[in-house]
Formats: sequence, structure tokens, C-alpha cells
Amino acid sequence: MSALFNTYSRSITFEKGKGMRLMTQDGTSYLDFNSGVGVNALGHGDVHLIEALKNQGEKLWHVSNIYGIKEQEKLAMRLVENTFAQAVFFTNSGTEAIECALKTARHYFFDKGEANKTDIITFSGAFHGRTFGAIAAGGNESYLEGFGVPLAGFKQIAPNNINNVKKLIDENTAAILIEPIQGEGGVNIIENSFLQDLRKICDENDLLLILDEVQSGYGRTGKFFAHEWAGISPDIMAIAKGIGGGFPLGACLATSKVAKSMVPGTHGSTYGGNPLACAVGNAVLDRILEPTFLPHVEKMSQKLNWHLQQLQQRFPSLIKEIRGKGLMIGLKLKPNVVKKLLENKLLTIGAGDNVLRLLPPLILEEKHIDEAIEIMTKTFAELEKNDG
Ligand code: PLP
Repeated sequence: MSALFNTYSRSITFEKGKGMRLMTQDGTSYLDFNSGVGVNALGHGDVHLIEALKNQGEKLWHVSNIYGIKEQEKLAMRLVENTFAQAVFFTNSGTEAIECALKTARHYFFDKGEANKTDIITFSGAFHGRTFGAIAAGGNESYLEGFGVPLAGFKQIAPNNINNVKKLIDENTAAILIEPIQGEGGVNIIENSFLQDLRKICDENDLLLILDEVQSGYGRTGKFFAHEWAGISPDIMAIAKGIGGGFPLGACLATSKVAKSMVPGTHGSTYGGNPLACAVGNAVLDRILEPTFLPHVEKMSQKLNWHLQQLQQRFPSLIKEIRGKGLMIGLKLKPNVVKKLLENKLLTIGAGDNVLRLLPPLILEEKHIDEAIEIMTKTFAELEKNDG
């Protein structure tokens, strides 16, 4: 019997982790191609992160945000130096980062004397988290059901057709919110040209472009942030997952033009950006910003992709499609494959409509790719045999 809310159907329990592997209490080892749904960018038990946590743990755990926090200032400055943004608000999760992004967009127009501009255009297949704001933005009926009247002000449309987006814009539109690659929705690629067109229509209509890079950011696609592939930049961006490498941390980044309306009293968080979280966040960033880190992600993603193409040729009836970017990969399959792979000691995660998602730690090496492909080959052969 569990004393937890029954919000997850949980499978096994892990005792410890090292590098690319997770171990159960009896010592059974699993290869991790899920990384806590794209969180453990540096794998498990990274010595630099442990050191940072230990050192900070001995110095200072927490002070209120009414005081200066050195580690937070430092992390914010480094994020600003390496992105489009000029200001950062730290949170503890992705959904809080989205909440901050939505509030910032509305407050920016309120401050300009355009309080009517509150509507935000979002896209079908999106996932932005589980707060009331985030489920309304995501628009997924099954996540909204049973929770009463959703937060108003969201208009949703299918992605990748700019003319349809244009038709939705009116005098009350404040912003457009989009994930550069839809993660939970099934690793659905948003075309670069569509992102470029969104940037253009935001500029033309005085709208804000908000990117949700909670899953696609922090090196996952081989660039620091996925929008860099399209050569555009947002006005506001929500990030989380990889930023803390497993320590709860998220952030809302914005240009100074937009962030300046968020003055004392408009928003806050007790824990957001506390010393422990930001010490770890700085240690994660040390590693991600190493000149060899992102090229390694790119190299490994090409290798993995090549092997997956071979696998598709071998099992064309099982693997209908391979999609994604970098180490954010989706295989369109039939149901229950995640469970079968788990039985064969490979951790993956489902998404969207029968999509198997691969989100390995970004530190993976060729030998881990070989091992994962071996397990997938064995599993798919078993599935094919059972089908045949
Ligand atoms: N946005 C995206 C794109 C996500 O993938 C997620 C989580 O999976 C969230 C927001 C919500 O993040 P969190 O679960 O940290 O609140």
C-alpha cells in the first residue's frame, strides 16, 4: 500500500545511479535512455555536481529572495551572457517557469496601457505543465477534465501553418507560445520556417514570442537551446529540466524590454533560485558550456540516429517513423513497447500517440548506443515473433 497520491502508475524503484545507469536494491542495472524525462543531462552521480552540492550544503542552504543570493546572481548573469535574454526569474519547475512567462507577457501589455491584450495563441499537441495556467495553455482535454472552468485567454491551433495563425490574431492577442519541438505531444518537430514566420508576425503585430524550452533546451538538441537551429530568438523563454541536472530548478528568461514590468509585488517564489539549487545550476552550466560538450551531443545523436535508421530498415512494420533532433528522439511504434524495453533493462518513455521517446543523458558514449541498440533489436525481434 502506498501513501502517495495515485497520480502516476509507477513501475520499479531505483536505489542508486552512476553515469548512464540506474540500479535497483537487488543490484539489477538498467541503461537510462530516459534521464528522468530529460532532466539528468549529466547522467547520475556526476562528481562535479556532487562537489558543488556538498560545498554549498556546508555553506548556506536557503535564504529568502528578499536578500541577495550570490549563486543566483551568478547563474542569471551566465544565462544572460549565453542567450537572447537580459533578465531571469528562477523557479523550481518547468510549469512554474511557464506560469511566470504567461504572467510576464500579460503584465508587459498592462504596463503599456494595453490591458486588453491578454490572449495567448498556443498549439495543439503542446504540453506546458500542470498548473491551471499551464493546462489551459496546453489545451489537452484529458488534462483539463474535472478541474472546472479553465483559465481564459488561450486560443489553440495546429502548428506549421502560418496563415491559420495570422487569422487568429486580433486586438486582444498578447503572445504566441510554442515548444520548438513538442516533447510530451510525441516529439513533433516544428519547422524552422514556421518558427521564423512566428517571429516575423510577432514583430509585425507587436506580440511577444514565448518559447517553452523546458524539454528541448539545455543542450538536448545539440545547441544550447533548440530555437538556435531556426536562427530566431524569443522575447520570453521558459526553461527547466536540464538546468538543475536533477536538482529542482527552472527559470523564465526575458529581454529587458519585457522583464522591466515585473517589479516588486508582481511575482515571487520562496524557494525559486535558492543557494543550493543555483550552486548546482552553476555546476551544470560549467559542464554544458565546455567547448566539447555540445559537439559531443551532436556527434552522439548522429551515431544514434544512424543506428535507429538501420533498426527501422530491419523492422519496418514496427518502426513507422523516426523523428526528433539531437538527443530528443521519437519512434512511432505500436503500444506497450516501453514496457517490453523495461523488461530488457532499457529505460525509455512514451509520448503522444504510441511514440517511444529516447532522452538519454547527454554524456552518453558510443558503447551505450551499441548497448541500447542491442536491447532494442532483441526487444523488437521478440515483438515481431509474437506478432507473427
Ligand atoms: N513544458 C514542457 C515542454 C515540458 O516537457 C514539461 C514537462 O515535461 C513542462 C513544461 C512542465 O515541467 P515540470 O514538470 O518541471 O513542471
